[in-house]
Amino acid sequence: MSRHPQSIPVLTYTRLEIVMPVIINEKTAPLYETIFEKAALFASCTDLEAVYALIEESKKLKLSSIDSILNAGILNEELFLDHLADSLGLEWLGGDLEIENVAELKLICRAALAIRFQVVPITLNDGVLTLACFDPLNLDMRQMVTRSISAKIKFVMASRRSIRIQLGEMYGVGADTFEQILEGRDLEVEGLLDSDEASVIDHDDSEEASVLRFVNQIIREALVQKATDIHVEPQKGGMCIRYRVDGQLLDVPVPENINALQDSVIARLKIMSRLDVAERRAPQDGRIHLSHEGQSVDVRVATIPSVEGETVSLRLLNQDKFNLTKLDLEDKVQAGISEVLKLSNGVILATGPTGSGKSTSLYCFLDHLNDRETRIVTIEDPVENKLPGVVQIAVRPEVGLSFAQGLRSILRADPNIVMVGEIRDTETAEIAIRASLTGHLVFSTLHTNDAIGGISRLLDMGVEPFLVSASVRAFMAQRLLRKLCVSCKQPNEAFTQEDRRKLNIPVDITGVPYRAVGCNECRNTGYSGRVGIYELCKVTQPMQEMIARGADISEIEQQAYDDGFEPMRIYGWRKVMKGITSVEEVLSSTHGTIEH
Ligand SMILES: [Zn+2]
Repeated sequence: MSRHPQSIPVLTYTRLEIVMPVIINEKTAPLYETIFEKAALFASCTDLEAVYALIEESKKLKLSSIDSILNAGILNEELFLDHLADSLGLEWLGGDLEIENVAELKLICRAALAIRFQVVPITLNDGVLTLACFDPLNLDMRQMVTRSISAKIKFVMASRRSIRIQLGEMYGVGADTFEQILEGRDLEVEGLLDSDEASVIDHDDSEEASVLRFVNQIIREALVQKATDIHVEPQKGGMCIRYRVDGQLLDVPVPENINALQDSVIARLKIMSRLDVAERRAPQDGRIHLSHEGQSVDVRVATIPSVEGETVSLRLLNQDKFNLTKLDLEDKVQAGISEVLKLSNGVILATGPTGSGKSTSLYCFLDHLNDRETRIVTIEDPVENKLPGVVQIAVRPEVGLSFAQGLRSILRADPNIVMVGEIRDTETAEIAIRASLTGHLVFSTLHTNDAIGGISRLLDMGVEPFLVSASVRAFMAQRLLRKLCVSCKQPNEAFTQEDRRKLNIPVDITGVPYRAVGCNECRNTGYSGRVGIYELCKVTQPMQEMIARGADISEIEQQAYDDGFEPMRIYGWRKVMKGITSVEEVLSSTHGTIEH
């Protein structure tokens, strides 16, 4: 067969405004291979063989070749699609979609259709609907779109990422499900819906099954966005769903008609977490075990009755492995920690405000020490992550199991290493200290800003200075800073030597600071992911003596500096000068005060 494009019959769709072949079959395939090949080369793809293989495989599996090629991550997505649009004679809208008259367009192109086929209505002019897609060669899509939309369709192309973002913003997460629940399920009758989503809920067509699917979508979307929490909050104006991503709360766009099913959504979450659905006045705690892309995900669920109704908070517990590497410590702190972890007894405290990553650090320490010969017992509130081989106990105040109580019973069970979730009161502090003096290594957290502040905190709690001096070996303080988005960060041109001096950035830290910009990848925040900064204060011999004789805290602090202590702000400046985080992040997260 000739590879020459002219010899290929060009198929047209009469209802479409464009003239182009739409089916990849034996006759048209060579043309597509040429087009794909050119576009791939244009998009800096170095592995054309892989592109051919993906086309072959997707044809066999009846999947979208474009989607498969993009999923492989072997080329620049936008350049590839841009070039493809050019070859196919379609307008290219790029990576930024701006849409007016959203409400009108949503009535013409319904959520179920748009989300199922990943198309976004852009404009409606003189009876022609401009529809953005990233795979104009998808025949199913074209058939369904032309069948379901009365207007004439003009296809244009846009980046896959911008289409997905726009779908979320326009219709809201799970909008297609809602539409189906509320309006009947026309599309399913057509028999074109995927079976994979339906399999989650079997073949149950009831509203309950659809609500379950919606809830699944909300959770799945949260996992995709790497959220740590989901909050479902009934409010005066309607139901509000928010994700916490990188420590920041984000509103999740939800379908307008969500209010009609608010009660069902909350009831569904409670059923999934095995809570009492009828109980709406008392707070409840539960768990959900999910599986996402082959990984198990543990979700801790808490309901709180509020004036506007019951709120449900879900914490997505990462099933990450804990180990010291995860903390990404700089060499000096790493060396200090390694030494501390070799101790056979003593108290080691992680300090910092809520959400600074203290528990993660303790889990990583425990993982490091966890072997068959070592018996590790923890008492936590609540148990956030399960460590294999470690006995973990959850605090239960309602049955009198407090940190102090739990700790007492743990010590009778002959552990080598003990972890107490938090030292909140003198009683717990004293039991922890006595445990360390009888030969246990004890880990815990304290709610103070910095490492040295941990000493004053224990003394303020009324713990005898000689006990602190004899038992506490080290304090580690930490913060989690937002990392600059690698796709859009820019060198901070405005940063001068004068700024450097004002901020007291040591001269031996070289490099240039970057600033946050904002792009599609980072939801225009300029940040993506987080990085820990740390300070480690080892209690040295001279410091022990000072603590025991009740020296002033400023004197002890000076001694710490003399003995090599380095504050985490300096640690932060190194991250700034490497372009990992911004000046603002370091300033706002160090020297702050703790809010309770
Ligand atoms: Zn960005």
